[in-house]
Amino acid sequence: GALPSRDEIRALVETAYARFRSERAGAVADYIPALAEADPDAFGICLANTRGDTFALGDAEQAFSIQSVSKPFAFALVCDALGAEEAALRLGVDATGLAFNSIMAVELRADRTTNPMVNSGAIATTSLVPGANAEERWQNVQQGLSRFAGRPLAFDERVYRSEAATNQRNAGVAHLLRGYQRLYCDPDEATDVYTRQCSLLVTARDLAVMGATLASGGVNPVTSEQVVAADTCRRVLAVMATAGLYERSGLWLYDVGLPGKSGVSGGIVTVSPGKGAVATYSPPLDAAGNSVRGQLVTRFLSERLGLNLFVSA
Ligand code: GLU
Repeated sequence: GALPSRDEIRALVETAYARFRSERAGAVADYIPALAEADPDAFGICLANTRGDTFALGDAEQAFSIQSVSKPFAFALVCDALGAEEAALRLGVDATGLAFNSIMAVELRADRTTNPMVNSGAIATTSLVPGANAEERWQNVQQGLSRFAGRPLAFDERVYRSEAATNQRNAGVAHLLRGYQRLYCDPDEATDVYTRQCSLLVTARDLAVMGATLASGGVNPVTSEQVVAADTCRRVLAVMATAGLYERSGLWLYDVGLPGKSGVSGGIVTVSPGKGAVATYSPPLDAAGNSVRGQLVTRFLSERLGLNLFVSA
């Protein structure tokens, strides 16, 4: 069935906000120094449907660095450019079951591919973004993600510098992948463009519109622009379902039954194909790196709106 009426959606978003506002579990990420300064009380929700209506509450207009929530959208650009089969061969699409920044994940499979939703696969994805050099690839990432959001996304220089000064681990992953011929440009350039990509500034409203674009066959419901092909969207949603919530992706699918993607700055976007997307912003994270309030809100809204993909009766 379709989503309920505007008034019902609005009321449910208000109920979710009130219900989980006082939740205090979780801790703000601190391994990137600039992220440790995030306000643990910041809390925003936005639901966007495929008709371009948005229902926003709380700090839904507060900007934060997108971090790993950039991964599905960067993968969408690469999948669209390369074709879904080639993208799967070069990047992998199976779950790793390991932490987002795992080096062991690279060693798991004989072909040394992982999944575009974890760091190794995401850095490899960024290395495949079209462009003759790092600057062109970065421009294409920024412009591509902006088309998903329906507005030009700015870049947080401070977060970028803070992460660039501390991401030796990602650089190591990139060099390891290069050694296996699973990174497709210079590893330091790929790490740099990936770090810039993670520093793009978004709001919960942006993430909802970006997710709703994946929910509507690649057409941004606010701008009506065809951002990527419909076939690309179904592939992106599949990799989100396999590995969108780090090593808790199985539990997420079991509970919520929808493709989602979380990031260490506290954002989560969850997509209901054909219907819309729910986006949340709340910085305190669980041990796997997923926003605590974001998971609670999304589970609640998905249940009340009947969005679980596996429900048949
Ligand atoms: N830029 C972060 C990193 O690569 C993103 C991690 C995340 O959000 O999972 O470490």
